[in-house]
Amino acid sequence: MNILCIASEVAPYAKTGGLADVMGALPRELSRNGHDVRVFMPLYDRIDTTRLDLSVVAEHVPLRLGAHAYDLKVFAAGDSPRMYFVHCPALYARGSLYTNDPDEHRRFMALCYVALATCQQQAFAPHVVQCNDWQTALVPLLLKTRFAWDRLFARARTLLTIHNLNYQGSFPSSVLADLNLEHEAHHLHQELLRAGRINFLLHGILYADGVSTVSPTYAQEIQTPEHGAGLDPFLRARRSSVVGILNGVDYEEWSPEADAHVPARFSARDLSGKAVNRTALRAAFGLPQPQDVPLFGVVSRFVSQKGLDLVAEVMPEVFEHDAGQLVVLGSGDARLEETFFHLQRAYPRHVGFHRGFSNPLAHLIEAGADAFLMPSRYEPCGLNQMYSLRYGTVPIVHRTGGLADTVVPWDARAGKGTGFVFEHPDATGLGWAVGQTLRAFRDRAAWHRLMMNGMSQDFSWRRQARIYEQLFARLEP
Ligand code: ADP
Repeated sequence: MNILCIASEVAPYAKTGGLADVMGALPRELSRNGHDVRVFMPLYDRIDTTRLDLSVVAEHVPLRLGAHAYDLKVFAAGDSPRMYFVHCPALYARGSLYTNDPDEHRRFMALCYVALATCQQQAFAPHVVQCNDWQTALVPLLLKTRFAWDRLFARARTLLTIHNLNYQGSFPSSVLADLNLEHEAHHLHQELLRAGRINFLLHGILYADGVSTVSPTYAQEIQTPEHGAGLDPFLRARRSSVVGILNGVDYEEWSPEADAHVPARFSARDLSGKAVNRTALRAAFGLPQPQDVPLFGVVSRFVSQKGLDLVAEVMPEVFEHDAGQLVVLGSGDARLEETFFHLQRAYPRHVGFHRGFSNPLAHLIEAGADAFLMPSRYEPCGLNQMYSLRYGTVPIVHRTGGLADTVVPWDARAGKGTGFVFEHPDATGLGWAVGQTLRAFRDRAAWHRLMMNGMSQDFSWRRQARIYEQLFARLEP
């Protein structure tokens, strides 16, 4: 199949979260299976182009979005998959991937238009167009309208993959002029338009041939008013086209046997390296090295979704009893950042906080911590709990979305299960799970079993890519 993927972030080039990991790994796996896969993303200013072997595909590509004219370039690199980078400093030289700037809608409309125009220029006729999240959710509508004349796209089926329903790209209807869709405005959701809004993600849900999200449980949850973020009626209306496919793990990047970011490699057979990494991790955060207490880890964007306020609420009791330590890596919400700075000041022997984004440090936390905290209020898939399992780092998760699909509650009597799963995303729920963790940690044999159970799990992309292939083959207009 010819497969076109369009995304706002792709690892390792530019990443803020799981979307990038998926777009870094799935196209590669599909290429391995023999498909011709092309991936488009913006050439953000923070991408280090000196390390990419870029060739020019198109120069001086003119694009007009309403009254705004742009001059773009398209670069390409690699073959399987072939990566295309859309170059336009006026749009993508902002220091960060996402902004609250008034042209945010144009930044990603440009990506969509240029991706399709480049397919035309390259005579690449996709069988499947996979778009991801709100930034590229208008592509199915563009194919049904502005690009419908072109036979090149006659066979193209579209899939919208939702990585997080809560980011919808909702703009005032005045942006309509910038979408070049004035003559097609009757295709837009009329009631919303009259109410003065345009919601990009909604139009992906309405017009894509298929809608997928990143775990089976989340696929069900988003069809309920509680987790539907206002779009649940539209998802329910398309329920037969909404599927959940769990993200895979890129085990080339996340395996304790071959992790180049950490001081010691280890495996289920020989765990000695884990202790070396734990020592290095504590040292990296300036923490003392107590003998018999677990080290808890957090790696996360700081947004309310992730439930990190609960960590700050629950963990002090653990520190008061000298029963555990905590290392935290993340940034975002200023109040949460302040909370963790404060926690670190209050418990300097127990808490290490690194504000920022660091892939090597994320690896060290996975490799060195004993347990990993993910009390997310909702979680479309979540990757860190799967990385944790592989590294023998026992995940503690709220039973929601992909967390529910990947972590099996520990049953001490049967010696089965891979982590601690709590029902309610509040301090009582998390506190209970942390208490269970401390108890299991004191039982050497039980803890060893838990680690082994987790390390033997397989969430590789190989299997998940096959499920995507089956879905692609089923898509119908
Ligand atoms: P989300 O996409 O909601 O952020 P996921 O768990 O799906 O959550 O993916 C998060 C990805 O981003 C993981 O690969 C995780 O390691 C990484 N990550 C998040 N925050 C940081 C950080 N501060 N430093 C390094 N990596 C991070």
